[in-house]
Amino acid sequence: MAIIKPVDESLIRIDALPAFDPVHRVAVSMLRLDRMHPFISGNKWYKLSLNLQTALDAGYRRLLTFGGAYSNHLIAAAAAAQTNDLQITGVVRGAEFAHRLNPVLQACADMGMQLAFVSREEYDLREKSAAVTNLLHNTYLIPEGGANEAGRKGAGQIASLIPGSFSHICVSVGSGTTFEGLRNALPASQRLMGYVPIKGGRYLETSVRSHLDAPDRDNWQLSDAWAMGGFGKCPPELNAWMQSFNDQYGIELDRVYTAKMMFGLQAELTQGAFPVNARILCIHTGGLTGNVSNI
Ligand SMILES: *Cc1c(COP(=O)(O)O)cnc(C)c1O
Repeated sequence: MAIIKPVDESLIRIDALPAFDPVHRVAVSMLRLDRMHPFISGNKWYKLSLNLQTALDAGYRRLLTFGGAYSNHLIAAAAAAQTNDLQITGVVRGAEFAHRLNPVLQACADMGMQLAFVSREEYDLREKSAAVTNLLHNTYLIPEGGANEAGRKGAGQIASLIPGSFSHICVSVGSGTTFEGLRNALPASQRLMGYVPIKGGRYLETSVRSHLDAPDRDNWQLSDAWAMGGFGKCPPELNAWMQSFNDQYGIELDRVYTAKMMFGLQAELTQGAFPVNARILCIHTGGLTGNVSNI
C-alpha cells in the first residue's frame, strides 16, 4: 500500500538571503522545508514518511506516538495519519493538559487524533507505562520525535534537496534525529552544523555520535551557544530579531528552533567565524504552528 503524501514537496525551494552577513558578505541561503505544509514541519514529514510506509506495508491501521503539549511532531503525525486514513493515538506529556486543550492539541484532536494524557512519570516510561501498554494492541509505535532508524533514514532524504555547491549546512537540533540522518546522507565534503536550542544541549553529542556513520570524520559539530534562556524560551531580543528578519526577507521563523539558529549564525558571521568563500545553506525546518501557541 503506497503512502499518500499530505505535503507538496514541489513547493520547497532555496532562497538566497542577501546581506545576511553584513560584515564579510559570506553567501547564505535557506532551504524552505516550511513551505510544503501548514502543519507538517518540514523535517517532521521526512522523519514520519518511512515510519508510515513501514506501518502500512505491515498492515497496521493504527499508530501511536508521543509528544509534549506543544509538540510539532504530534501535529504532523496527526495530519499524516489523517491523510492516510490511519487511526492514531497521541500520548501527551502532562495530565493537566486534558482539561483545556491548547491550540496544538486542539488541532490534533480536530484531525482525529485520540489524545491520551499521562503524568510526567508515566510519560518517562513511554511504552512501558501501564497506561500506554493497554493502547499498544495491533498498533505501530513511532517514538517521540520520530527518533528511530526509519526516522533517520527518512530525514536523510532531505540531503537530496541540497546541491553539492554548499560548503556548510546548518540545521537546528531537538532529538538529533534529523541531524543524524542528514549527516549520514551528505557527502564528506559538506560540513553539518547543528544548533541545539537547549541549555547544555551538547550532552546530545554522545547519542548523536552513536547513530553516525564514520563518527570520527570531522565534518560535523553541535553547538548549544544560542539556547537563549533555554528550550522554548523566547527573550524580547529574539522576538524583535525575528520580526526584523521577516521584514527583510519575508520569511517567518519559528521561535523555538530556527530563529535561534539564524540569530546565532548571524552573530557568528559578524564575528568572522566562517571562511569568506563559504557557501552556507540553512534549513528552515518549519514549526510555525508553535508561534501562535507558545508562551
Ligand atoms: C522537531 C524540530 C526540530 C528538531 O528535529 P530533531 O530531529 O528532533 O532534532 C527542528 N526544527 C523544528 C522546527 C522542529 O519542529
